[in-house]
Amino acid sequence: MVKENVTICPKCGGKLKHYDTIRRRVLGKSRLEKRVFVERLRCLDCKSYHHAIPALIFPYKHYDAEIIQGVLDGYITPETLGYEDYPCEMTMTRWRARILHSSL
Ligand SMILES: [Zn+2]
Repeated sequence: MVKENVTICPKCGGKLKHYDTIRRRVLGKSRLEKRVFVERLRCLDCKSYHHAIPALIFPYKHYDAEIIQGVLDGYITPETLGYEDYPCEMTMTRWRARILHSSL
């Protein structure tokens, strides 16, 4: 997973090239379904695939409040988002843990 407009492979430092664009389903506010287009990039050197994060919907290192709420409510999982590692399972667990502790 790389930021949009990133052209360097995070694995090997090789050059990323546009591969294709796929449609992904994400759940937004009030469980409203949004469809987003995600660009897939392929590394010319190690041949690995990387999804470019649509900055508009998933700003890097800044999770949308409604997404966080969705995770806490339990209706957003990595599978729901369609992003295997965004937010990653560990991040979701951390959010849930934080809520548990703050309600004590
Ligand atoms: Zn690479």
